[in-house]
Amino acid sequence: MSVGRFAPSTTGPAHPGTLLAALLCWLDARARGGRVWLRLEDLDPQRCRPEHAEAMRRDLSWLGLEWDGEQLQSTLRARHEAALDRLAEGGALYPCTCSRREIRSAGLRAPDGGYRYRNTCRGRALPPGGWRETGAPLRARLDEGRVEVRGEEGDDLSGDSAASFGDPVVRRRDGAMAYHLASVVDDDDLGVTRVVRGRDLAASTALQVALRRLLGLAEPVHRHHLLLLEEHGGKLAKLHGAVSLDALRPHYDAEALVGWLARACGLDAPSRVAPEELVAGFDWSCVAREDRLVRWQGGELLLVASNEQEVRP
Ligand code: GLU
Ligand code: ZN
Repeated sequence: MSVGRFAPSTTGPAHPGTLLAALLCWLDARARGGRVWLRLEDLDPQRCRPEHAEAMRRDLSWLGLEWDGEQLQSTLRARHEAALDRLAEGGALYPCTCSRREIRSAGLRAPDGGYRYRNTCRGRALPPGGWRETGAPLRARLDEGRVEVRGEEGDDLSGDSAASFGDPVVRRRDGAMAYHLASVVDDDDLGVTRVVRGRDLAASTALQVALRRLLGLAEPVHRHHLLLLEEHGGKLAKLHGAVSLDALRPHYDAEALVGWLARACGLDAPSRVAPEELVAGFDWSCVAREDRLVRWQGGELLLVASNEQEVRP
């Protein structure tokens, strides 16, 4: 049985990129007769709000997507802590006393655009009472060397994450569990066999696989899909902010939006369609590989072709 999950962070309202990711993840599961869960990633106390989680549920259901179940990440703390216990038992958990400024001032970049950590504190021991006795951020010591990972399309996701990212923080300074740790533990809890998500997360897949290996967790198949981008300050950024679903709703009903999303990613779909109607014909070979540039203008989502012409999908 194939098991997938859609795992949005509950840091703000859904936008077209979120909805495209949800639709593709859902279609991937349904087209193979598999299960798919909604995992609400609400661990970051600075950025996540319960009302965003509620809005995410509502918005996805408005779009016509239903899930086989829900994981609310903040309720799974005990499992995350058990994973830290396992890392500690294996001697792979250590406190890090480096400040964010120190790490940044080394000026080394990681593949995901963040700062590389040089594993400076690897030699530090946990307090005698164990990791619960320290408020310092905790890191997991990854095995050295290159981890070979292929995506489902044969794309090379390999990397030496211990070197290129540095050991990941698994429990943050504010006490919150960190994304990579929670993500792999919660996938394992669900028995996830397929991780389908945006290409912005491809760069950290090797790190997650390294973490899975350290914890002895199964490795799912990975598939990364196109993103919707917008121009932002002269650069391309993930389509966000201005185009929340609340801004779209006066102009698009659910079927019109699903039709727009399906066509924007290259599927041969009518302009108005329900997600179910796309299941039978869904095939990744019909999904565009290139990211799509989108402009929100006059109450309309426009795809911007590379020659700068606006087109309606
Ligand atoms: N919560 C992450 C995000 O919204 C995605 C996590 C994942 O799919 O692994 O970017
Ligand atoms: Zn450190």
